[in-house]
Amino acid sequence: EEKEKSSERESMYLVSEFAQSYFQKTLKNSELGKAIGGTYFKERGFTKETIDKFKLGYSLDQWDAFTKEALGAGYQLEYLEKTGLTIVKEKEGSDDKRMFDRFKGRVMFPIHSMSGRVLGFGGRILTSDKKAAKYLNSPESDIYHKSKVLYGIYHAKQAIAKQDNCFLVEGYTDVIQFHQSGIENVVASSGTALTPDQIRLINRLTKNITVLFDGDAAGLRASLRGIDLILEQGMNVKVCTFPEGQDPDSYARANSEEDLVSFLEENATDFIRFKASLLVKDAQNDPIKKADTIREIVNSIFKIPDRIQREIYVQECSRIMDISEDVLYNTLAQLGNKEV
Ligand code: ATP
Ligand code: MN
Ligand code: MN
Ligand code: MN
Repeated sequence: EEKEKSSERESMYLVSEFAQSYFQKTLKNSELGKAIGGTYFKERGFTKETIDKFKLGYSLDQWDAFTKEALGAGYQLEYLEKTGLTIVKEKEGSDDKRMFDRFKGRVMFPIHSMSGRVLGFGGRILTSDKKAAKYLNSPESDIYHKSKVLYGIYHAKQAIAKQDNCFLVEGYTDVIQFHQSGIENVVASSGTALTPDQIRLINRLTKNITVLFDGDAAGLRASLRGIDLILEQGMNVKVCTFPEGQDPDSYARANSEEDLVSFLEENATDFIRFKASLLVKDAQNDPIKKADTIREIVNSIFKIPDRIQREIYVQECSRIMDISEDVLYNTLAQLGNKEV
């Protein structure tokens, strides 16, 4: 049984690798791929080397071009369906099945494991059609668990260990553009809330993480909660926000490598310090809100496993938020019996 499962997974890996190289070839060799996908990547400022390094591709805007090619090459429909590359629909009232390419008409970003195997894909639409999702990802499967993967980890692992720091960004293109700017210790959560498994992947390589937020403010306060999960794993967290309307990709494109590096150095702020300052601003002079913000910051401090660090943060937050250390310590004590 276990053996059967593992050979099924192997078949899924093989068909995914075939898809990766088919989408690459379509981008590089077909007239439509060059004209549409190639032009798109060029306009985003991706070089040929970058396209090869990340094995980017293009999926033709046709119903089943990829599926036909894969079946013709001997891959089984079962695995095309299990990886989600092909969507199979039963025709009503008959045994006929219809097959559709999931990623039809999208530029393709393969998602690799720590060891470089293809687990799944992200596909970006090229039009600004508001009805269709901008990015489409492979569905959950026996080889693709989105809560356990980080985009870019294969290309980043050595640099993360060497730099002893990891930049965490929101999207595929942020990862890729950073590489072009010479920063390779970068991974993306790809739009999902960060999970403990994803953090563990980074934790194996470094204890230091810098979270970079798009300058769209929308998700900032919600995302800050997720960072408690990183503190819980005993990691040191810094955060950095980009100017309104910019993200790491657009900023890296618009600025020189030196300016990008100094922007990151100057703006990366200790997470607790950042959160405390933000909360102070939010609460203004409203006493009720201020009480909430105390609970909120203490919740984060509570997650830090190291006692000395907790103590230092209590002192610092007391200063930033203008609250006595006693109040903070008492609130901490209410959360649990962790010694402070
Ligand atoms: P681009 O620069 O190509 O427009 P982005 O990477 O800046 O894209 P964001 O809108 O900042 O995109 O979203 C961050 C990430 O969230 C994306 O890279 C993608 O992984 C994911 N994402 C965005 N929109 C969607 C969507 N409609 N469905 C699923 N995932 C999405
Ligand atoms: Mn965003
Ligand atoms: Mn973005
Ligand atoms: Mn972007």
